[in-house]
Amino acid sequence: MVIILLGAPGSGKGSISNYLKEKHGFIHVSTGEVFRRTMAQDTPLANQVKQIMLSGKLVDDDTTNEVVRQEILKINNPQANVIFDGYPRNVKQLEYLNKLLKVDYAIDVQVDKDEIIKRITGRRVCPVCKEIYNIYYKKPKVENTCDKDGSLLVQRNDDQESVVVERYKTYMSLNAPLITACKNMNILHEVKNDQLEHAIKQVKDICNLK
Ligand code: AMP
Repeated sequence: MVIILLGAPGSGKGSISNYLKEKHGFIHVSTGEVFRRTMAQDTPLANQVKQIMLSGKLVDDDTTNEVVRQEILKINNPQANVIFDGYPRNVKQLEYLNKLLKVDYAIDVQVDKDEIIKRITGRRVCPVCKEIYNIYYKKPKVENTCDKDGSLLVQRNDDQESVVVERYKTYMSLNAPLITACKNMNILHEVKNDQLEHAIKQVKDICNLK
């Protein structure tokens, strides 16, 4: 089964993906995560990606599509359950993905804009296990420390408010045509993420997961 998660930055795609990965064995492909790893290297591509990410804009489609092709090659299993988080971000990427595999469900995760800003600026991530916390909504048991492995939590560079506003604008400008394309393919489903448990239940119902 192949799921693509659409939705604004901070809408909860990462948390939903983590759940499906842990409880249902999905392979999680997050282009944002791949680019964050790329950014940490010291190469010309890394510097280019870093500048783009910190401006809140998107990496170009050719680079992004190639990254996804490589991730799919690594999976090397046509039967695998895969969840794409943050990809595709536009119609060109969707068309590219469709050539590589069959998408079963496109889930549009919906949250209000003000709520999104609060969620993203409050987000803290474990750099080791990738568990996501929030200083307002999902505090770790010990301040700034991962409950699972004790690592020091970090804030993503692109989660700062000025970058978040740009990322949201980028998302809004590309989202409507992407939604229409998924609707035309009869794969579109909407999920309201006012509460994570509620959103996860809706996703499981849509995808017939027990
Ligand atoms: P995310 O963690 O999905 O919000 O992605 C963080 C950043 O990585 C985005 O703001 C983009 O700069 C870049 N990025 C992630 N996914 C894509 C994509 N599908 N297309 C282009 N750029 C992407």
